[in-house]
Amino acid sequence: MIIKGIAVSAGIALGQAKVLQPLDNKLDYHLLPPSQLRFEKICLDNAIATLVSQIKNSALHLQPDSEHYQLIEADLMLLEDEELQQELHVAIAKQQFSAALAVEHTFAKQAQAMRDMDTPYLCCRAEDVLSLGQRLIQILLTGESTELSNIPDNSIIIAKDITPAEFATLPLNRLKGLVLQTGGVTSHTAILARSASIPTLMSCPCDLALIANGTPIALDAISGELIIDPTEAQVARLKVALQQAIERKVGLEQFKNQATQTQDGHKISLLANVGCISEINHLADVGAEGVGLFRTEFMFMNNHELPDEHQQYQLYCDALQLLNGKPLTIRTIDLGADKEVPSLSMIKEENPALGVRGIRYTLNHPQLFSAQLRAVLRAANHGAIRLMFPMVNQVEELEDALALIERCKDELNEAEKGFGDITIGIVVETPAAVINLDSMLPLLDFISIGTNDLTQYTMAADRTSPYLIDKYPVLSPAIIKLIAQSISSAKAANVQVSMCGELASNPNATALLIGLGIDELSVSVAALLEIKQELSRWRYEDCVKQAEQAMVISRIDKLNELLTRCHS
Ligand code: PEP
Ligand code: MG
Repeated sequence: MIIKGIAVSAGIALGQAKVLQPLDNKLDYHLLPPSQLRFEKICLDNAIATLVSQIKNSALHLQPDSEHYQLIEADLMLLEDEELQQELHVAIAKQQFSAALAVEHTFAKQAQAMRDMDTPYLCCRAEDVLSLGQRLIQILLTGESTELSNIPDNSIIIAKDITPAEFATLPLNRLKGLVLQTGGVTSHTAILARSASIPTLMSCPCDLALIANGTPIALDAISGELIIDPTEAQVARLKVALQQAIERKVGLEQFKNQATQTQDGHKISLLANVGCISEINHLADVGAEGVGLFRTEFMFMNNHELPDEHQQYQLYCDALQLLNGKPLTIRTIDLGADKEVPSLSMIKEENPALGVRGIRYTLNHPQLFSAQLRAVLRAANHGAIRLMFPMVNQVEELEDALALIERCKDELNEAEKGFGDITIGIVVETPAAVINLDSMLPLLDFISIGTNDLTQYTMAADRTSPYLIDKYPVLSPAIIKLIAQSISSAKAANVQVSMCGELASNPNATALLIGLGIDELSVSVAALLEIKQELSRWRYEDCVKQAEQAMVISRIDKLNELLTRCHS
C-alpha cells in the first residue's frame, strides 16, 4: 500500500515499522472493590519489573560515566526504592486506588517534594519523575511502553508526532527513517531530522492502527511515498533511486571548494544552520563559510540538566575553535510553541505559538538569559560572534535585550572576567518585525530573515498543521513582498541581510532571493552544496529579472510556475 506524504528530509530507507501508538493515559478515578486490590498490586509489581528491565537494556550501550547513564541510574534507584514501592502498595490498599492511579498520585507527590526543595537539579528531576510515572502508567494501561531509546535495528518510526525533545533521545544508529502524521518542512522535528540525515516524511495520513510493528516498510522521502509491505519490484525501484541519490551527492562534491557565486561572479556568503556542536564538525565537508544560525535551544533539549554559564561558555569556545576564524551566529534560546524543554518550567497556554516564546520567554527569565549572554560575551573574547534574538516584534524588546547585555558586561567587569565585542542582529520572523524594522535598524548590525515563522505568523497558519501546509506555502506573494521589504529597509540603513529560514535551503528559490538582494544564505548542511550548484547556474541579471517578475505576481500557482519555468 502506498501513502503520500511530504518529504521533509530527503532520502530512501528500507526497514521495519516501529509504530508509536498515541499515548492515551486516561485514568479511571473510581475506587476499586477490595477483592481487586491484590490483583492491582501484582500488576504494579509486574509493570515496575518491566520498566526496570527496559531501562537496564537501554543503558547497555552507554558509558557508565556519561550523564545519560547517571540519569538512568537515578530512574532505576527510584523505581527500585522500597519505600516508594511500599507507598504505592499502601495507596492501593488503603485508598482503593487502581495501580495506575496509585502511580499517578504517588509520583506527583514525589515530584512536588522535589520542586519544594527549590534547587535547579531537583526541579529537573521532578520532571523526570513525572515522566517515569507516565511510562509506568502506560505499561499498566496498555501493556507496552514507547521507550524510544529501545527501538530495534532498522526501525522506521511511524507516529502521529514526535517532539524535538523526543527526537533528541532516539538512537540514530538504529533509526532508518521517520514517518509522522503531522508536520511539514519547517517543523522543528523536520529540521532535526534533516540535520541527522534521517529520511523523513511528514503530514502522512497513514492509519497507525493498521500497521503492525515489524511490517516491512519502504520509505521514499524524495518523491514523498510511504510503502507498507512493498513488493519486490517496489524495493528494487527504491534501491535504484537510492543509488542515484548517492551518485547525485558524489556529483555535488565538486562544489565543495568552489566560490559561492553566480556564473558571472556575483558572490554571496553561504553559511550553515546547526543545532549542536557535532554538526559544526561537518561544515568543512560541505565548504560552509561559517554558522549563520546556531539554534541554541536544541542543546537545552538534548540535556536533562540545563547547561550553565560556564558549560555554555566552553561550548561556544569549542564552536569558535572548530570554525577557525569563520563567523559563529548564535541565536539566543528560542523556546515555546513546538519547542519545549522538559527541564524548564513553561506555562501552559491556549495558543503557545502566540504565547511566551522566543525573546518573550528569555526576557521573562532574566537569570537564564543573562547566563547565556555572559557566556556569549566571554566566548567573544576568543573569536567573532554574531548574536541574534528570535521573535523580536518591536523596538522595546530589542532595547530590553540590549540593556541586559550591558548589565551582563558590568557583571563581568566586576568579576574581572574578560569579554569581547559582539555584533547584534534579530531574526525577522513576524510581520510586525518587518513593519517595525526602521525603528530597530539603528540598533542592529544585521538581520536574518526567518521565513518559517514569518510564513506561520503572516498566514496565521500553524507551521506544523498537516491541514494547512499546502495552502499557505512560503513561496507566496505576501511572503515574497515581506522579504523584499525587509531587504530594502535593511539595505537603506546599511545593515547586512541574511536569511536563515528553510526557504534559503530551497534551490527553487535561490535565484529569486539573490535577485531580491540577499547577501547571505544560511542553510541546512544537507542542502548546502545543492544551493551552491544552483547559484552557479545563474547569471546575476537573470536573478534580478526573476525577482522583478515575482514581485508583480499575485497568485501562488503563477509564482510556482515562474520559479519552476526558470529552474528547468
Ligand atoms: C524561522 O522561523 O525561520 C527560523 C529560522 O527559526 P526556527 O525555524 O528555529 O523557528
Ligand atoms: Mg523561528
